[in-house]
Amino acid sequence: MTQLNPRQKQAVHYIDGPCLVLAGAGSGKTSVITRKIAYLIEECQIAARNIAALTFTNKAAREMKERATKLVKGSAAKGLTVSTFHNLGLNIIRREYRALGFKPGFSIFDSEDARALLKELMLKDGDLDTDLLDLTQHQISNWKNDQVVPGTALSKAESEGEQRMAIVYERYNQALRAYNAVDFDDLILVPVQLFAENADVLAHWQKKIRYLLVDEYQDTNNAQYLLVKQLIGDRGSLTVVGDDDQSIYAWRGARPENMSQLKVDFPSLEVIKLEQNYRSTQRILKTANHLIANNPHEFEKTLWSDKSIGEPIRIIQCSNEEAEAERVANEIVAQKLQRQAKFHDFAVLYRSNHQARLVELKLQHHQIPYAMSGGTSFFARTEIKDVMAYLRLVINPDDDNAFLRIINTPRRQIGTSTLEALGRYATEREISLFTACDELGLQSHIPEKPLERVKRFCHWILKISERSETDEAMPAIREMVDDIDYEAWLHQNASSSKVAERRMENVYYLLDSIGKMLNPEDPAREPSSLKDAISKLVLMDLLDRQEEEETLDQVQMLTLHASKGLEFPHVFIVGLEEEILPHRNSIEDENIEEERRLAYVGITRAQRSLTLLLANKRKQYGEVIETSESRFLAELPEGDVEREGFGQSTPENNQKKGQETLSNLMAMFDDDPN
Ligand code: ATP
Ligand code: MG
Repeated sequence: MTQLNPRQKQAVHYIDGPCLVLAGAGSGKTSVITRKIAYLIEECQIAARNIAALTFTNKAAREMKERATKLVKGSAAKGLTVSTFHNLGLNIIRREYRALGFKPGFSIFDSEDARALLKELMLKDGDLDTDLLDLTQHQISNWKNDQVVPGTALSKAESEGEQRMAIVYERYNQALRAYNAVDFDDLILVPVQLFAENADVLAHWQKKIRYLLVDEYQDTNNAQYLLVKQLIGDRGSLTVVGDDDQSIYAWRGARPENMSQLKVDFPSLEVIKLEQNYRSTQRILKTANHLIANNPHEFEKTLWSDKSIGEPIRIIQCSNEEAEAERVANEIVAQKLQRQAKFHDFAVLYRSNHQARLVELKLQHHQIPYAMSGGTSFFARTEIKDVMAYLRLVINPDDDNAFLRIINTPRRQIGTSTLEALGRYATEREISLFTACDELGLQSHIPEKPLERVKRFCHWILKISERSETDEAMPAIREMVDDIDYEAWLHQNASSSKVAERRMENVYYLLDSIGKMLNPEDPAREPSSLKDAISKLVLMDLLDRQEEEETLDQVQMLTLHASKGLEFPHVFIVGLEEEILPHRNSIEDENIEEERRLAYVGITRAQRSLTLLLANKRKQYGEVIETSESRFLAELPEGDVEREGFGQSTPENNQKKGQETLSNLMAMFDDDPN
């Protein structure tokens, strides 16, 4: 076990009141949390089930839980909660659904579902363009994060546009209620509102969570901070750790000010700063510090390392994006040999998901195993969304979005006029589409044949729904996928049979994962009901394969956002170009500081080597454009970087002859998730 330094020890042992650990990357903040969990269990006799630690991604939560569990003796960590904020919110809603007026088996709308619902509501008013839709969705999310209810939003509206948005907000919330559904923001907002209104329920949860720890505190939004304050009450049993330089979620409402707010809300707050970085070589650390010094700072922090000076940072300029991706693959093959490393020692980080595709392709081409997370979500794949929609309908027949997604997937010859009539009928009576199908009055609205098809569909879903509540759940849902002949449907709709097969494999993977949740192999794990399993799965917004897969020897591919909190011996960051990093939108909005923090997060993931790549030309929006190098490169310490490929006419000669052309490869890999 690593020896904690005196400041870390102080943070672990301090339990007399609220405690904030404020420190730079790699200084052991997460380590303080895991050690403190062990300390609370073993030295303070707090039962693991009364301790909760929160963070932001499923991956980070899993890692933290693993680290904490290893630190305590025997099975003392059993019952410990280490989860994302959203998961905790989900658990609260699931337990308190009656007090909240939900029916069991409520649905969680992801951002795409929410968007579809909004679109439908706004189309009714006749006004709709994509920008307005985006803006409205964003505004509603902001309102929810700031605890603004529709009535308040309406009374505070300053323009006609805002007024209209507030009205849409109200109708959107009503629709969610009718669908027995919550959206992502509700997962935090609904518990916060419940706690504010119901002292008994709050007291129950305060009793359950005797000690709360929060990692990556700089990324909490208003609602999350309120939830923390409610759970703590005036007991002060709170430890939070964070780094304002790693705040990268302002666009989702994160408020790094929550760090200074803590001192105001908890005057007895103990602030502890850590200064030693245990992760990176001197050069990597210096590079990161140099870069972030270009941002203004509210909190003064220093960060030093006693590790070796290390290798220079490499900056590699490639002729185009394909060469960049090829170079990454070649480097990994070569370095793996030279360094005697494993594939999982390497990580490739990128600003936006679309950058991953070409790298993926090249890794595949070189037969380099890789795992992606935070990228195109497993759950964003068409086939997974389809099957999940069936499952959502099975557990909650009132989920209209799920209903609409699959009523004609595969085709059931139920036409749009039938669906429109059904929709009108349901809206008039304020019932869900599914319930509408069952009502007699519908006969006068819809001709006999299609009506019969609709009814048959509903009857079939109900039968599966009934079976799903027995131990027949797994066979029932497997039969469901067979019944609809989904595989044939995939073959009809995919560009090649290979693509269809891969999609079907994803479906099987999903079913197997559900099977494991219903009947866990590990006897220590509690079996879930289908309802619980589905809501848990809906929450896994990241490509979130099961733990056992994580130990495989694979190159890690992640967005910069998803890489937060993690560390890798060798890191590649691609696309160090203006308009990519910093992102085009942030340049337009003059929000360079957040992009710089994002670059800082990326750089500080590296333990031993860091390679930054960029391309001279890149296809963007269907056009090949000349790029210019990221302004951040000029902010790195000259003496510690080595540049390659600059000013040379043909920097790339690493393309093997006879290699398949990009377009051939692209055709082979035509597996666009949507
Ligand atoms: P980030 O800001 O990126 O989330 P962090 O502050 O949470 O980083 P950790 O991930 O906890 O930092 O620690 C970084 C690395 O340093 C880990 O590999 C951890 O095991 C190691 N480490 C932490 N404290 C010590 C220590 N006292 N002695 C040796 N190694 C340590
Ligand atoms: Mg951390």
